[in-house]
Amino acid sequence: QHEVKSDLEIAQSAKLKHINEIAQVLGVEVDDLEHYGKYKAKLPLHLIDPEKIKKSKLILVTAITPTPPGEGKTTTSIGLTEGLNRIGKKTTVVLREPSLGPVFGIKGGAAGGGYSQVVPMEDINLHFTGDFSAIEKANNLLAALIDNNIYFQKESLGIDPRTVKWKRVMDMNDRSLRSIITGLGGRPGGNPREAGFNITAASEIMAILCLAESFQDLKTKLGNIYVGDTYDNKPIYCRDLKAQGAMAALLKDAIKPNLVQTLEGNPAIIHGGPFANIAQGTNSVLATKLGLSLSDYVVTEAGFGADLGAEKFLDIKCGYSGLSPSAVVIVATVRALKYHGGQCLKSLTTPNLGALKAGCANLEKHLENIAQFGLPAVVSINRFSSDSDEELDFLKTRCKELGAHVALSEGWALGGEGTTQLARAVVETVENFNGRYTPIYDWNSDIKTKVETVAKKIYGAGSVVFQAKALADIKHIEALGLGHLPICIAKTQKSFSDNEALIGRPSGFELTVREFEIAAGAGFLVPITGAIMRLPGLPAVPAALHIDIDDNGVISGLS
Ligand code: ADP
Ligand code: MG
Repeated sequence: QHEVKSDLEIAQSAKLKHINEIAQVLGVEVDDLEHYGKYKAKLPLHLIDPEKIKKSKLILVTAITPTPPGEGKTTTSIGLTEGLNRIGKKTTVVLREPSLGPVFGIKGGAAGGGYSQVVPMEDINLHFTGDFSAIEKANNLLAALIDNNIYFQKESLGIDPRTVKWKRVMDMNDRSLRSIITGLGGRPGGNPREAGFNITAASEIMAILCLAESFQDLKTKLGNIYVGDTYDNKPIYCRDLKAQGAMAALLKDAIKPNLVQTLEGNPAIIHGGPFANIAQGTNSVLATKLGLSLSDYVVTEAGFGADLGAEKFLDIKCGYSGLSPSAVVIVATVRALKYHGGQCLKSLTTPNLGALKAGCANLEKHLENIAQFGLPAVVSINRFSSDSDEELDFLKTRCKELGAHVALSEGWALGGEGTTQLARAVVETVENFNGRYTPIYDWNSDIKTKVETVAKKIYGAGSVVFQAKALADIKHIEALGLGHLPICIAKTQKSFSDNEALIGRPSGFELTVREFEIAAGAGFLVPITGAIMRLPGLPAVPAALHIDIDDNGVISGLS
C-alpha cells in the first residue's frame, strides 16, 4: 500500500501548464485571455458560438441521494474529463466555484479529490478571481439603496420596511449575522429594522448571474428582483430603485467564465456557484455555452442528488437556455447505497451485501427519473478503497439487470487512467442518442400543479400539503403576474421526501410546502419544504483551524 497523499499535496505536486497553453488547446487566442496570474484567465463572451454549441455534446453528472460528505460528483466530473481526453475526445469540464463557507466549515473545498482535481486548488478554493466578492458587492449595493430610499423621505418610494426580504450577504459561515437589527444609532443611523445576512452563494444575484446570457439580459434580470411592497401594497422591484445599472457594472468581470486546468492539463471552466436548494445549483449558462463552443464534449455537474440537481438543471437551466444533455451520469457509491439499505453511517466501510441490495432501490428510482426526462443514463460507480469486490460485482450486475449502462470509476485513485472505461460507456451512450430532454412539467400550468407534478413523479410523494402561508403566497404570486415561472423546490438533499429520515426509496408520503419565495430576477419560484439554512454556522472545530501558510507562501491544511 502506498502512502495516501492529501488532496492538497497531490495538487501542489502537479506541474501546471501556463494558462496560454490550455487556451491553445481550445483554439483561443492568447490575446482574448484576461490573465489572473499564470494559471487563471477569464474568457470573453464573444467566444460563444451558437452553431458549435448545437454540434457539441453535454454530459450531466448527478448522483444518488447523497450521504453528508458527498458521493463524488465533482471528482467524477473531473475524472471523466481526463478519461474522455485520453480516448481522444476533446473535452472540457465545467463546474461551480467553491464557497468559503464549506472551505472553513465542515465539508472542505470543492475542487474535486485525489487524482481528479482542478488546479490551482488553493486559488480555486480561496477567492479565485473575485467573482463571489463582486456578487456580494452587487447584492449589498441593492441592500444599501433600499435602506437609503427608506431613509430619505423626499425621494421615498414608500417602501414598508417590514415587507423587505432582501438580505445582505457575505461568503462566510457566521451564524451571528443571520438575524440582526440594522439602523440603530438614532436619526443619523436610519430606520431600525429586522435584517440579516445570507451566504453569498444563496444570493439571488448568484442565481441571476448563472442564468444571464448577456449584459442586457443581466440588467433585465437584476431589474426584476422583487424587493417588497409599499405601505399601500404596491410591489417594488429593483428597477423601481434604478439599481440594476450600477449592480451590473459591479459584475463586469464576474460575468466572464474562468479558465483553469485539471491535474492532467485538460481545460476546466469554473464559474458561479448558486445553492442547490433555494437556487439552481449549477454553474453559469455562459460557462456551459463557452465550454460547448470551444470543445466537443462538456462534462458538468448539478448539486445534490438527481431529484434536486438534475431536475432543476433540466427544468430551469435547460428550460431557459435551450441546452440539453446527451447523457446523464449517475454517481453511485457502495457506501451510500448501504446507508439507504439501513446500514448506519459509522459502519459504511464494513461489507454488507444485504444492505447494498436493499439500498439499490434508491438508485433504481433515480434511474427511472432520468428515463422520465427521456434521457439515457450511465451509472458510474465511484470506487472507495473500502468497497469489497463482491459488493462491486453485485452492484454492476444489479445495474445491468435494470437495463442501465454501468462502469467503475477510479478517477479518485488513478486520474484519467481509472476512468477510460467510464468514458467509453459515456461516448457510446451519447453517440446512440439524438434526442432532447422532456420537461417534467409545463411552466404554464398552475403553481400547485407544478409542485405536485415534481413531488409525485420525481420524489414519489402521494400528495402535497400546502400550508396556509403557502396558499396565501400563491395568491400573492399570481397577483404579481409571476405564476408562469418554473419552480425550484427547496427540500432536504438527504431523502427523496421532505423528511431526511426516510432513506432509500420512500413512496406515498405527504410533502409539505410551508411557503414560497419569489426569485423574480432569476426567474423562478421557490416552494419551501422544511427549514432552509441560508447562513450556516461553523462547527465546534472548524476546518479553518487546520489551514496555514508558511514563510514561502505555501498553503497547508486545505481539504
Ligand atoms: P460531490 O461533488 O458529490 O459533493 P465530491 O466530488 O466533492 O462530491 O467528493 C466529496 C469528497 O469525497 C471529497 O473530499 C473527495 O475528495 C472525496 N472522494 C470522492 N471520491 C472518492 C473516492 N473514490 N475515494 C475517496 N474519497 C473520495
Ligand atoms: Mg460537487
